[in-house]
Amino acid sequence: MNFNRRTFLKAASGATALPLLGHVRHARAATSRVVVVGGGFAGATAAKYVAQWGGPGVSVSLVEPDATHVSCILSNLVLNDRVKYAALGFNHSMLHQRYGVELVRDRAVAADPVAGKLDLASGSTLAFDRLIVAPGIGFDPVPGLGTPALQAMVPHAWIAGSQTLTLRDQLMKMANGTTVILTIPKAPYRCPPGPYERACVIADYLKRKKPRSKIVVLDANPVIQAEPSAFLNAFNVLYAGRLEYVPNAEVVRVSFEGSRRVAWVRNGASEIAYRCDVLNHIPRNTAAPLVHHLGLANVGGRWAGVDPLSFESAVAPNIHVIGDAQGTGLPKAGHIANCEAKVCADAVVRMLNGWPIDEPARLSSLVLNSACYSPITYTTASWLNAVFAYDAGSGLMKRVDASFGEAERHSTKNFEQMFKWAERLFDDTFA
Ligand SMILES: Cc1cc2nc3c(=O)[nH]c(=O)nc-3n(C[C@H](O)[C@H](O)[C@H](O)COP(=O)(O)OP(=O)(O)OC[C@H]3O[C@@H](n4cnc5c(N)ncnc54)[C@H](O)[C@@H]3O)c2cc1C
Repeated sequence: MNFNRRTFLKAASGATALPLLGHVRHARAATSRVVVVGGGFAGATAAKYVAQWGGPGVSVSLVEPDATHVSCILSNLVLNDRVKYAALGFNHSMLHQRYGVELVRDRAVAADPVAGKLDLASGSTLAFDRLIVAPGIGFDPVPGLGTPALQAMVPHAWIAGSQTLTLRDQLMKMANGTTVILTIPKAPYRCPPGPYERACVIADYLKRKKPRSKIVVLDANPVIQAEPSAFLNAFNVLYAGRLEYVPNAEVVRVSFEGSRRVAWVRNGASEIAYRCDVLNHIPRNTAAPLVHHLGLANVGGRWAGVDPLSFESAVAPNIHVIGDAQGTGLPKAGHIANCEAKVCADAVVRMLNGWPIDEPARLSSLVLNSACYSPITYTTASWLNAVFAYDAGSGLMKRVDASFGEAERHSTKNFEQMFKWAERLFDDTFA
């Protein structure tokens, strides 16, 4: 591997400063209205940068129902009490105070791209010239978990929030000698290394606190989807005898036997039952419900197809989709969502002003970075890095192979760097 940690850190930190894309011009005098839906990594960044780069001629509103966005990034470390839940909550007040973004505490429910109207759950409507949709992910329904009460008993904790705390409490309360099952959905899903990282965090917790317990990882995919050498080493060496990894294990339904949970895995025409005491089932991911309601999920009926030059929807004019909901093939991760948001913000400001988005200088600077740090034990982490560049021939974002790499070993140094990297990303997104 010719990609070392120093190169990684350089690339990772460069990403947050990424596409300024030559913004010296300010938007036109008449006010244009940009509405952003979703205040997570993609939406909060987009609101901030459209407001900055658009100048006084652009008004920006951010629609988000939650007063506090809870970061998924680092949330696996809430499960073993390494990070306090409250430390991962971010409000959007800085976006208002520093950049003049109007905060609208509401939920978007419908949009008319031609009339430029966004309907909110409260019954009010916002007018827009450009709409940026960044609502994250949703899930396929799970047979056997048809009610909110049953869903709360089997938390996915794949959108950070109350389910993160539920899963943490279940792990803390389980008796020594009992079993946890973690399921991994078919790719693509949010954060490729995330479930394997969670498997390590839980296995490490069991090793230290409940040494007679074990974790079974049921992976719907045929192989580990990210950082295979770090995770295989962890599974086979660090957690040998404590962690059982089962590939090609797609959970098709869930049932209950008293206090025990049963995950049913497809096996040809029949099913195999896996029984446990704590079940962390992550259902198959898709774009958030809003993307489906707006008719934007044209990629496999799951994700929103977009033009990578602007993240404008392939099916609806004036609507852009960024973050995990987009279907370009870019990984679904917060760091790259932050980069996508800047490309989109730049394009939106250009489009509002009638400036081109396909200037050669801009095309050659469309380089996006994805980075993840993965805790492997209570004190060590590994990392993964990939860079994607615009390919004019295909019109797609393509991975730059020389940039692709993972840490040679998990280390305490990586663990410390993880917090610095996250702090920088949180600041660039929410402050
Ligand atoms: C355990 C875990 C660990 C992870 N670790 C990493 C990592 O190390 N590095 C990394 O890069 N990524 C990581 N990720 C992935 C990262 O968290 C996501 O990729 C990122 O959150 C996606 O950003 P987003 O803005 O698309 O969605 P989100 O951050 O989920 O934000 C979506 C927002 O939209 C709002 N919303 C939804 N519907 C509506 C609506 N109708 N109206 C208004 N608002 C709405 C929601 O309330 C939410 O605030 C991790 C994920 C998990 C689960």
